[in-house]
Amino acid sequence: MTAKPPLFQFDNSYARDLQGFYVAWEGAKVPAPELVLFNRELAEELGLEADALQTAEGAAVFAGAVQPDGASPLAQVYAGHQFGGFSPQLGDGRALLVGEVIDRNGKRRDIHLKGSGPTPFSRGGDGKAVLGPVLREYILGEAMHALKIPTTRALAAVTTGEMVHREGPKPGAVLTRVAASHLRVGTFQFFAARGQTDKVRQLADYAIFRHDPDLSGKDGRYLGLFSRVIERQAELMASWMLAGFIHGVMNTDNTTISGETIDYGPCAFLEAYDPATVFSSIDHGGRYAFGRQPSIMQWNLARLAEALLALFEPDNLDKAVDLASTELGRFPDLYRQHWLHGMRGKLGLTREVDGDQDLFEDLLSLMQQQKVDYTLLFRHLGDAAIGDPEKARRLFVDPTSLDPWLTRWQDRLSAEDLSPRLAKEQMDTANPLYIPRNHKVEEALAAAEAGDYAPAVSLLEVLKHPFTEQQDREAYAQPAPDSFGPYRTFCGT
Ligand code: AMP
Ligand code: MG
Repeated sequence: MTAKPPLFQFDNSYARDLQGFYVAWEGAKVPAPELVLFNRELAEELGLEADALQTAEGAAVFAGAVQPDGASPLAQVYAGHQFGGFSPQLGDGRALLVGEVIDRNGKRRDIHLKGSGPTPFSRGGDGKAVLGPVLREYILGEAMHALKIPTTRALAAVTTGEMVHREGPKPGAVLTRVAASHLRVGTFQFFAARGQTDKVRQLADYAIFRHDPDLSGKDGRYLGLFSRVIERQAELMASWMLAGFIHGVMNTDNTTISGETIDYGPCAFLEAYDPATVFSSIDHGGRYAFGRQPSIMQWNLARLAEALLALFEPDNLDKAVDLASTELGRFPDLYRQHWLHGMRGKLGLTREVDGDQDLFEDLLSLMQQQKVDYTLLFRHLGDAAIGDPEKARRLFVDPTSLDPWLTRWQDRLSAEDLSPRLAKEQMDTANPLYIPRNHKVEEALAAAEAGDYAPAVSLLEVLKHPFTEQQDREAYAQPAPDSFGPYRTFCGT
């Protein structure tokens, strides 16, 4: 009899190269692991045997209850600024890095479990996750991926057969998360806060190995790394703002070095456009409101600069501060350029023209004044580009208020080289018809908690092709009915 091939071909660089940056740890045993969602397409991208994972053994592995061959499970240590206050000791309190695989494109990806039981970093928490938030992270992350936004992804969701106490008993669950890495701004902060410069340097070299290997061994590589993180995060913030995504907990421990979106907690998409929108029940001061996200990211990157400062210019702190400030000062303009580029795409424009920013901001103010659905308006402007503005106009309480702006935009469009038909085509690849509508997400989570996964599966199917109009899927494109009321999200931890 031939031996079964291992489920994963692990190559665990974090465990191997970064001793002292984690605690080796295993997941908790659970009564009855059951695979409830599995991402076959991602499994294939990772070079995994999907059939072998959709088994009882796979479910036990995804629950953290069984260690697959070649795994070196560990809890990573990190710190972080949470809502502006520094917590020097965080870490994977309910998560494990199981190992790393090299995907079909040669990229190294972390296989990570969230909800796999307590660790030495649990700080009194139970180390568990429950089904609703696990599915929310699964759905939102996959939606972001389909929207072409860099993100961690979901490989699997399992229920554990255990009830976990939250605001009452809830079904326990574990999410398998795939990421370019789990290096966070807070990982650097942990060692910097303890004055462990050698460890900060070791971590920075590891980050370069993971994300910027072209900088490896070069002089000035640490400033180079900082500069790359700024560039990735400026682009990421523009993509969130262009899509109407609100993360909700932009703490530095939830801010990646890779530039991927991570940690889908109380996140949600905007419906009526308003930069002051906050969904999270714990964000009392509106620190992480929609419109504040780019400047919060710059604040988070300033914390990264502080953590890396000793590496920039080891014998000259003043010069290190100058170098870091100059880099950080690039963020607003980098962000703005990405945002302007994205807005041009959303409005069928290709050339850069003075006054573009005003044109875009004037549209946003109109939307804000009349509480217009952000996603639908951009989608319907595609029809306006080919001479049918009615659907866009009807989104306004007073449709005539859009007309002067439409004329300005039409003038701007007609000065482009694109035909109206091509402009609409470009717009339809930038303006999704389907986003994870809050009421649809809640409906899917409630059904799953009652044992029916069909709505979650249907929602995931629709969100896989957000730019393509799908038959009989009109309901997925609509904003929440008034009866849904104001939306509130919870961390669910
Ligand atoms: P998050 O809000 O998911 O970004 O988590 C912030 C910190 O709290 C991280 O260190 C988590 O590991 C930890 N944490 C969140 N929920 C739990 C839990 N149920 N048990 C233990 N630690 C947790
Ligand atoms: Mg987190």
